[in-house]
Amino acid sequence: MRHVLAADIGGTQMRAAVVREDSTILARMSAPTAPAEGFEAATERLALLFQQVAARALAPDLLAIGIATAGPVDPTDGTYRHPPNLEGWHGRSMAPVLAETLGMPVRVGHDATLAALAETRWGARAGAKHLIYLTVSTGIGAGIIVDGRPVLGASGGAGEVGHLIVNPGGGKCAAGCPGCLEGSASGRAIALAARAVVESGERTSLTASATAVDVFAAADAGDAVAGSIIGDAIGHLASGIASLLAVFDPEAIVLGGGVAEALASRWDALIEAVQERALPRYAAGVPVELTALGDEVGLLGAALWAFDEA
Ligand SMILES: [Zn+2]
Repeated sequence: MRHVLAADIGGTQMRAAVVREDSTILARMSAPTAPAEGFEAATERLALLFQQVAARALAPDLLAIGIATAGPVDPTDGTYRHPPNLEGWHGRSMAPVLAETLGMPVRVGHDATLAALAETRWGARAGAKHLIYLTVSTGIGAGIIVDGRPVLGASGGAGEVGHLIVNPGGGKCAAGCPGCLEGSASGRAIALAARAVVESGERTSLTASATAVDVFAAADAGDAVAGSIIGDAIGHLASGIASLLAVFDPEAIVLGGGVAEALASRWDALIEAVQERALPRYAAGVPVELTALGDEVGLLGAALWAFDEA
């Protein structure tokens, strides 16, 4: 069977693996991304990771390299376009150096887009032609598959659904749009809401430095203020999801990321809120699911991206 090298590059960590064409991960390693230490150093670390996983997997027939990365990134040549979480990498591409060092073609894509691709091939919705993968984490973004193909946009920037305005006049995201989905329902937004209630003097067990995970834990422990923050975030997330259902008519919207995983215990509330906001065609139910591929979804999407090219 054929194999490829796959990588998933996030703001904190990068992972590399050898993936077989039946989706089996044969070897896997990770290293810090450390974007501030420079682009060349990060490229060298990733090249070394690839060499190490290739040596471990003993796969004789490595065809190509696929890379899923935080973006924005131009999928034609892997050039970063002002990536907010990979500061200093604008205008650079790892592809030429990696192709030269490892002697095989390199294909780069946006992590959420490639996660969506993985869902349509190897996820619970394998075979789907129309699917959205929605990542709900520190930020919010999406990968969109229409007619079996990723929607990339004119410059590779499609899928930034985190900036749909769902709460006009509400919280701002890091990019500054008032009341966007990311400014209202992301992990960052939940943490900022916690800080605001603490500073306003409300009675709560939360502290000003609470993370989104802390807010979920406090809500689970019965803190009404924390419960209200999570309830608001669920409502805004549901508005975004209902809008995406109306626009794209996907077979499914699959959620992944840390905040999505934390919502698993409140899934019924999320589905009910989406249902309230969705078009009548969804009266019998909304196709909204949590990913079954866990945090390997990016690596698997990168592998598929490489197989598709090979
Ligand atoms: Zn925004």
